[in-house]
Amino acid sequence: MIPTVDETHDPALRSWVRSANDGRTDFPIQNLPFGVFRHQGGGERAHVGIAIGSMILDVSAAMRLGYFTGDSAAAARACGAQCLNDLMELGRPAWRALRLAVSALLREGSSAERDADRMLVPMEDADLLLPARVGDYTDFYASIHHATNVGSMFRPDNPLLPNYKWVPIGYHGRSSSLLPSGSEVRRPSGQRKAPDAQAPVFGPSRSLDYECEVGAFIGTGTTLGEALGIRDAAEQLFGLCLVNDWSARDIQSWEYQPLGPFLAKNFATTLSPWVVTMEALAPFRVHAAERAEGDPAPLPYLRDDEDAERGGVDLAVEVWLRTRTMRERGAAPVRLSRARFADMYWTLAQLVAHHASNGCNLRPGDLLASGTISGPERDSRGCMLELTWRGAEPVKLPDGETRSFLEDGDELILRGECVRDGFARIGFGECRGRILPAPAA
Ligand code: CA
Repeated sequence: MIPTVDETHDPALRSWVRSANDGRTDFPIQNLPFGVFRHQGGGERAHVGIAIGSMILDVSAAMRLGYFTGDSAAAARACGAQCLNDLMELGRPAWRALRLAVSALLREGSSAERDADRMLVPMEDADLLLPARVGDYTDFYASIHHATNVGSMFRPDNPLLPNYKWVPIGYHGRSSSLLPSGSEVRRPSGQRKAPDAQAPVFGPSRSLDYECEVGAFIGTGTTLGEALGIRDAAEQLFGLCLVNDWSARDIQSWEYQPLGPFLAKNFATTLSPWVVTMEALAPFRVHAAERAEGDPAPLPYLRDDEDAERGGVDLAVEVWLRTRTMRERGAAPVRLSRARFADMYWTLAQLVAHHASNGCNLRPGDLLASGTISGPERDSRGCMLELTWRGAEPVKLPDGETRSFLEDGDELILRGECVRDGFARIGFGECRGRILPAPAA
């Protein structure tokens, strides 16, 4: 079942945390995303928190004050861990009970306001960490617009391979190099070979790129050897974050055949800190993207009426760039693109069902990323490879600089928001990273 709208989505709800009511914050009381934070200068221990306006609710602190009893107690106790995996493992009834309890606790009129100082931490006084211990990370390729654009650069006669409309394409990524937002990213070195060169050379990548993606965290997990029906796939989804799959295009184009991406993509992947739950996203579920006339219907194991009806997520994702020069001049970041996650060819439930269809087990905290999110328009292309058409049409920035790919000192920021008439706007916060030069040889 895909979660449905309930009292926690009422747009009239307001919080006694005043910054949650300003109409601009990504984190009004209707959102309540989970993350993991550490007090700046407050020792090594990490805490599970919930974003509310410009503050973080420390769930364990609220628990100690006696605010979680009954159905929500088990979920609140699981938030005593230093990551979200224990909470993810509990499943949807527990997640829902905790959301209801937190919504009531933070509502205007709740007596909990008297304990504000004992359970709230200003976000600016906290370091935001990776939300989960990610055992396995898989990256898909679910935007047909991205796949067609990239394919037409590398294979002009044959942009979309014949399997694309039948099977969700993906590869196993690397969890060791997942980074929290704000981390610096070192330009990778690797092998690259110009088309007319006799042999490859080794050195710093000259075509470093970003990929704007959405990541889905797995909840309770599945059993090795047992497939998961598409009807049950939505139950596995805990929540979503933003993902920047940094990519070295020159390394990629030389190494990717025949086994797919390897060192071009496993040097860094940045995640946004707040996990927006599938409960919070209930008002923004939409029809799965319509397939073009003549496209095959999904095979039965990937087909479900509810998923076709409500399997899409109406989430807009944006890419912003701030170069070193812009930063030195105090200029604000500039937006490079905006795309709709609902345009993806495969739904999240289809990605989960396909991943488990051979008996491969998914575990709590596993991360499934969508692949670059691009739409049909030029300003909805979710990576620089597409935006500049492999460097042939450089992006012109307002201060006169141009970019074919990322340069040292560039800062890339992903943002996401869900907007629908009759509901409160919710946002994803930021996924941010800055490029450091390659180490001297
Ligand atoms: Ca990717």
